[in-house]
Amino acid sequence: MKRVYNFNPGPATLPLEVLKEAQAEFLDFDGSGMSIIEISHRSKPYEKVHNQAKADILELMGLGDDYEVLFIQGGASLQFAMIPMNFATTERKGSYVLSGTFSSNAYKEAATLGVGEVAASTKEENFRRVPRQEELNINPNVAYLHVCYNNTIYGTEFHYVPDTGNVPLFADMSSDMLSRPVDFKKFSLIYAGVQKNLGPAGVVIVVARRELIEKSLDTLPTMLRYDTFYKKNSLYNTPPAFSIYMVGKVAAWIKSCGGLTEMARRNSIKAKLLYDAIDSSDGFYRGHADKDSRSFMNVTFRLPSEELEKKFVAEALEQNLSGVKGHRSVGGMRASIYNAMPIEGAEALADFMNQFRKNN
Ligand SMILES: *Cc1c(COP(=O)(O)O)cnc(C)c1O
Repeated sequence: MKRVYNFNPGPATLPLEVLKEAQAEFLDFDGSGMSIIEISHRSKPYEKVHNQAKADILELMGLGDDYEVLFIQGGASLQFAMIPMNFATTERKGSYVLSGTFSSNAYKEAATLGVGEVAASTKEENFRRVPRQEELNINPNVAYLHVCYNNTIYGTEFHYVPDTGNVPLFADMSSDMLSRPVDFKKFSLIYAGVQKNLGPAGVVIVVARRELIEKSLDTLPTMLRYDTFYKKNSLYNTPPAFSIYMVGKVAAWIKSCGGLTEMARRNSIKAKLLYDAIDSSDGFYRGHADKDSRSFMNVTFRLPSEELEKKFVAEALEQNLSGVKGHRSVGGMRASIYNAMPIEGAEALADFMNQFRKNN
């Protein structure tokens, strides 16, 4: 069996321990003689998985009973629509910080519904950084301020929690949820498509203040209302059981490693290895992100020419370093170093970067 260091942005690498555990119990889950994807979502063994995953997520985030965890399908992209549908009106709009592709897509949904406005944007600077606190134009009469905490494509990340006064703060944390301690209590709603840092595609984790989601507008269809998921413990209809089961295993793995503090320690070592390789390259590698906005999850950089970039991708793969090609809107390289990427993987890529520069 060959396993590579997988730097793909999403779906992305998962902890080997978790994959092995899932493999070992796949044919006979919890003594049932069936796999987790063959049993009822109303059965006791499934219910245990479902509720434990929720409890572990809240525990890792340091959140209590005033928050609820929902499991919703449709990807983070459906949250772009559900959020304005549930919370914004033409009188009280949703306000958006534009810091990359996904936050712009989120805004687009609100704008289509006629309920979106922009609080700040770094588009003019090709999204090299996230806006600073003093650049946020916070209208006190909006329903929420939406930020994308880690910009997966551009490789930038918020290193501060925006102060929004009394305006509820909402965040798309699809690509950095549970990667480090954050003062999650400052957020009213956080969501993450799990296929970046937390599991296989198929489910979105929504963590929200209960008071916000216990009652939705009566005009909304059942599956687009947060209160449907809230009132039925995300079991109104058949949930994506396998994805939730895997997320539960990843959350348990994070806990067993030492929680978010330990994730942050590992992730900052990995990020430093790669950013040092960029910064010590005499301009051979050019980071896309401004230094104070650099992501600890997605490291984006260019090489002197597109030929060299092609060569880099091909030679990296020969060294078992897979998935380093960047997104077309930035070009160049993107190394995604989520929780499950071992430090040795980042070391191997940094060594390769140094060697490649010398050879070229
Ligand atoms: C990938 C990604 C999305 C889109 O997620 P889907 O689950 O594919 O809809 C949204 N936001 C961020 C930050 C992402 O990285």
